Amino acid sequence: MQQQSVAIITGAGRGIGRAVALELARLQYRLVLVSRTEDELDKTARLAHVDDALIIRADVSDPQQVDDVIHRAMTQFGRIDVLVHCAGVAPLLSVDQTTPAIWREVIDTNLSSAYYFAHAAWPVFTQQTSGVIVLVSSEAARDPFEGFSAYGAAKAGLNLLGKALAKEGAKLGVRVHTIAPGAVETSMFRKLITPQQFPREKALEPVDVAKAIAQCIRGDLAYSSGEVIYLHKTIG
Ligand code: NAP
Repeated sequence: MQQQSVAIITGAGRGIGRAVALELARLQYRLVLVSRTEDELDKTARLAHVDDALIIRADVSDPQQVDDVIHRAMTQFGRIDVLVHCAGVAPLLSVDQTTPAIWREVIDTNLSSAYYFAHAAWPVFTQQTSGVIVLVSSEAARDPFEGFSAYGAAKAGLNLLGKALAKEGAKLGVRVHTIAPGAVETSMFRKLITPQQFPREKALEPVDVAKAIAQCIRGDLAYSSGEVIYLHKTIG
């Protein structure tokens, strides 16, 4: 019998990460769900109708906790086929309000975390001679809202990290895709922008982003490894 593929999804407790978990469960992946809030991860597993998901409460900005995620996934499932890195934070603050502590939190959560995961998973992917990483970036990487200095810089760094990792991964059978959405209807977005400022019908739904991520994972967009794919809703 063929072994089921295993996907780690960070930020899986809500929003885009939850939609990715539901989509990959539908595609028969075994799931490793990661965020700092266990009851949200439990709810994701329930909604995905899976009873064997590995739920890991971890802070992705801490390299030791990231190493632990990879170790626990390998102990439980013996392989890692996919890593979808959705975890992120996006405070909208002017540069004078952005303290060094906030700057570090935003860079560590959105950008350094992706390096921690790649670093920890690379030996597994090298051994398997396969693996797919999908990084969730943002339109803010090329056109940030006013107040997104740290967030925009983190996501621009993520775009470059994805390109660099894709170059290293090509000879190992590892693909690295970067998906950069505009507005997506999630609690993160609605904490910042009201429906009066940006109507719901113009925003992507989390499932739209999840479907694009699934296309990357399945190899339909294999040729785009290393590229940044920007997603916007242009029709209703
Ligand atoms: P969301 O609904 O706020 O979900 C964010 C997820 O990340 C939550 O599960 C959260 O869980 C987790 N997370 C945050 N900090 C973490 C940490 N230090 N360690 C572990 N998990 C952490 O946000 P979303 O809108 O789905 O965003 C998902 C990704 O898409 C982010 O990278 C975001 O930058 C990107 N994005 C969003 C939009 C948008 O309009 N919504 C647009 C472009 C890009 P806990 O807080 O419980 O840990």
